[in-house]
Amino acid sequence: MQWDIEADVVVVGFGAAGACAALEAAAAGSSVAVLDRFTGGGATALSGGVVYAGGGTPPQRAAGVTDTAAAMFGYLRTEVGDVVPPETLRQFCDDSVSMLGWLESHGVPFEGSLCPDKTSYPTNRHYLYYSGSEISARDVAPPAPRGHRTRGRGTSGGLLFARLAAATRRAGVQVVGQTKAVRVILADGRAIGVECRSLRGAPWWARTAHRLLHRAARKPFLYVPKAGRLMHRPVGWLERRYGRPLLVGAARGVVIAAGGFGGSRELLRAHAPSARGGLPLATPGDDGSGLLLGTAAGGAAALLDRVSVWRFLSPPPALLRGVLVDVDGKRICDESRYGAAIGDEIVRRGGRAWLFADQATITAARRQLRGSTLWFQRLQARYLLTFGRVTADTVAGVAAKAGIDPDGLAATVGAYNADPAHPGGEPAGPAGKPTDLAGKPADLVVAQDQPPYSLIDFSIRARLLNPAPVLTLGGLVVDHGTGQVLRADGTAVPGLYAAGRSAVGLCSRSYVSGLSIADCVFSGRRAGHHASAASEFTPADS
Ligand SMILES: Cc1cc2nc3c(=O)[nH]c(=O)nc-3n(C[C@H](O)[C@H](O)[C@H](O)COP(=O)(O)OP(=O)(O)OC[C@H]3O[C@@H](n4cnc5c(N)ncnc54)[C@H](O)[C@@H]3O)c2cc1C
Repeated sequence: MQWDIEADVVVVGFGAAGACAALEAAAAGSSVAVLDRFTGGGATALSGGVVYAGGGTPPQRAAGVTDTAAAMFGYLRTEVGDVVPPETLRQFCDDSVSMLGWLESHGVPFEGSLCPDKTSYPTNRHYLYYSGSEISARDVAPPAPRGHRTRGRGTSGGLLFARLAAATRRAGVQVVGQTKAVRVILADGRAIGVECRSLRGAPWWARTAHRLLHRAARKPFLYVPKAGRLMHRPVGWLERRYGRPLLVGAARGVVIAAGGFGGSRELLRAHAPSARGGLPLATPGDDGSGLLLGTAAGGAAALLDRVSVWRFLSPPPALLRGVLVDVDGKRICDESRYGAAIGDEIVRRGGRAWLFADQATITAARRQLRGSTLWFQRLQARYLLTFGRVTADTVAGVAAKAGIDPDGLAATVGAYNADPAHPGGEPAGPAGKPTDLAGKPADLVVAQDQPPYSLIDFSIRARLLNPAPVLTLGGLVVDHGTGQVLRADGTAVPGLYAAGRSAVGLCSRSYVSGLSIADCVFSGRRAGHHASAASEFTPADS
């Protein structure tokens, strides 16, 4: 085979997983080439830059937080379930402190400033927070804040990626931009290279237009996918018109780290129809091509129906005092749980949900608006507290306005307000009456009995000002010890690895903030390390 570029390890996709795979492979002494359809960054660069880590990290210790790997494992077990073997999860937790240190050694900054509120994303004053449902699950494992937000203003994923990208280049990795992988090349079933379409030889204006148009379409794609798709159309045309074949040889291994499939309407429709109405938490590059590259090479895919649908009730945190109900007026779950867990519960009930709140709660929420939100959260919260709710002086009246069962709502609100968990109520547990509010932190257990009453619409529907973001979690099946892509019969495709959202990983059952990027780091490093250690392919092998 006549290769245009050759390396020991070839990584497809330059987001968090690809950068971590490349860094690890380069550190192991391999020559590495990273291919990206655009210029890198992917969803990682648009993200909040939150990394789930614990077990006593330096930021946790600086904040005076006590945490252990065992407590982290205990909690994550409830989220991760059996999508990875227990020993893989244990290793992730045991290595968490050193993983954060590794990121810091590559220039990614963290800080132990603890956020006092339960929030979807802390403001620029705080960089450590409860990013999952740890408090709600405190009977299972001692809770600790493990959301480590990269220290940088705004959504700090851009900074996280910039630092990883700079480290990757410093490590001598060859980054080949504007190059789309279209096929994994196999020799006797072993991955030996990647066939690409590249704009490397295209006129400068075509390359510039391709770069700028993609960049301009990314944000609109997040908020108004139709507009983003329209703006991105010329990008595909430029690739078809000016793309030229490029063959990249991989002596030791190919790592697929090309993101998820949230940007593909076809794949979402086929595998995750429940995500309809949500906004894809993705870039146009998350078109599932990583998944398709792997399956075309013989790999199996799993958990494609697992999508994380986010429905955050906070900020402002006062809203967590309310009661989340379905169309029958029945309480849905502990309102303090993580937004993806709440989203899951809402989807399971047909996608419709409202938060019942009394006037005292609404007033407190309004007061918290400025101090507890970043601009995009403020916009959303303002909408919810004005146009996004209906009000009435009675419980039956507000139920009628929202179109939910008034008797069901009256029964739920009555039971909620009379629950023994309220301060001054009868003690809960074996000595007292059982409480439905178990799990909800005591400071959020506040009777909702001050009219007028509101029902805030938290249904999963496509709305610009209160979107339900959707993240795809499934992907290629991999060996959790090595990251090698597995066929349906459980055997490995030699030389082929997958990482990040192109693969099944730690967050593939349920997502909590930071667990996707943490998994990208964990699985990316694993794939890079093992690909590097694989025996070299020589033509005589074929
Ligand atoms: C707004 C937003 C906020 C988020 N916040 C968080 C958070 O705070 N914490 C968290 O854990 N997760 C968060 N997520 C999710 C998280 O960002 C992603 O799941 C994760 O970054 C995926 O990383 P990745 O390396 O797998 O893929 P990506 O970062 O998407 O990188 C994939 C790369 O592959 C390239 N590519 C795709 N196809 C090809 C191809 N055929 N050939 C060559 N290159 C290709 C793409 O151009 C892209 O650069 C957020 C996501 C969004 C959108």
